[in-house]
Amino acid sequence: MDARSAALVRANFQSVLDAPHGPERLVSAFYGHLFAENPRLRELFPPTMDMQAKRLATAIQYMLDHLEDWDRAQKFLEQLARDHRKYGVEAAHYDQAGPALFAAFQTYNGPNWTRELAGGWRDVCLLISAAMAIGANSDDSPPYWEATVVGHRHVLDDLAIVRLQSDDPIPYLAGQYVPVSVPQRPRMWRYLSPAIPSNPYGEIEFHVRKVRSGWVSPSIVNETEVGDRWLIGGPLGGLQVDQDNGRDVLMIGSGTGIAPLRAQLIEMGRRGINPRVHFFIGGAYPCDLYDVENMWQLSQSNPWLTIVPVCEHKTNPWWYPHPTEDAPYGMHRRLVGNLGAVVASFGAWEDRQIQIAGSAKMIADTRRALLAVGTPEEIISTDPV
Ligand SMILES: Cc1cc2nc3c(=O)[nH]c(=O)nc-3n(C[C@H](O)[C@H](O)[C@H](O)COP(=O)(O)OP(=O)(O)OC[C@H]3O[C@@H](n4cnc5c(N)ncnc54)[C@H](O)[C@@H]3O)c2cc1C
Repeated sequence: MDARSAALVRANFQSVLDAPHGPERLVSAFYGHLFAENPRLRELFPPTMDMQAKRLATAIQYMLDHLEDWDRAQKFLEQLARDHRKYGVEAAHYDQAGPALFAAFQTYNGPNWTRELAGGWRDVCLLISAAMAIGANSDDSPPYWEATVVGHRHVLDDLAIVRLQSDDPIPYLAGQYVPVSVPQRPRMWRYLSPAIPSNPYGEIEFHVRKVRSGWVSPSIVNETEVGDRWLIGGPLGGLQVDQDNGRDVLMIGSGTGIAPLRAQLIEMGRRGINPRVHFFIGGAYPCDLYDVENMWQLSQSNPWLTIVPVCEHKTNPWWYPHPTEDAPYGMHRRLVGNLGAVVASFGAWEDRQIQIAGSAKMIADTRRALLAVGTPEEIISTDPV
């Protein structure tokens, strides 16, 4: 695809994102075309499709951002197709999805549809459907594994740690995330990041925060019971420390975003030699740093690891039942301020490999703060949230 076409489709997609309900209109045109041509495909998807707009927009944006780094985009799309196997979507279905996506852009653009736009989007839709068909065909592993809840613990009012035992070990890499379906909300798959590395015993742990008005997370936090059977789909994502590139590591995580970073650090703790890691753990209040002491304990036996707690407020909120405790003796003192601003106040960290994990807003704010002090964009990795 030439640079002019790439610029054209990027600008066109930005106009979709900027328009009120643009992604929702695009995704409804996409599924409208897809299901009109192939009505039986509707049965494969969950009853409520309200998260699909955001997911589709995130996937298209990610691949448009990586048109010049196609290996990375291809890997992402292949993973996405492997992930869709949990719905029963097969390689052949992408022959129908590509044209439906193209038709959706045409419908969305209406009278503004030009020959150049048609050429650009045709190329993009072909690239997407071809990469996803390859992905769907390239994996013999099961589309999902089954696991039993063996522990459920509230660590904050709105945050629970859930431990499961899978029937067979799930071959994810520390730092990856997995789609999960729980019995209280069948077929409503949500991504969660395992907080411990994969192990031969099939033990797996998730940290889940309740999103107000969410369908699945409140149910996981409030209704999960020991003995529940969960479905866990194939792993996705590429947050990983490159042990060979000679760079030290900067990790920045807040809320349950610490999970994929924590899993990598626990795994690194099993190795003898590691690059130096600074891990900034953020939260609104000191009480939000629910796992900081565990991470600090890990750093006690792993001198390559430094834990730095950061809070926006110095003390716990008035309604929190416990007073603000001092950090344990020896732990880095809690820094106060916006997480991204605090990290950037130390400099550009340009000699590091950087991972940021948390909410979409936290990732965007932190990335912006780092870019503003001169951090090269290509050393920053995040999950597509
Ligand atoms: C790569 C990846 C890894 C993830 N890992 C974890 C994890 O380890 N632990 C965890 O708790 N969650 C994680 N999430 C988020 C999780 O997948 C769900 O999106 C989240 O639990 C909300 O699901 P829900 O069904 O409750 O809300 P939905 O019913 O899906 O959404 C309800 C409403 O809330 C909004 N919303 C969704 N998520 C958020 C949010 N985070 N903040 C504010 N508003 C939101 C939606 O836009 C929608 O309007 C991860 C997401 C991604 C993409």
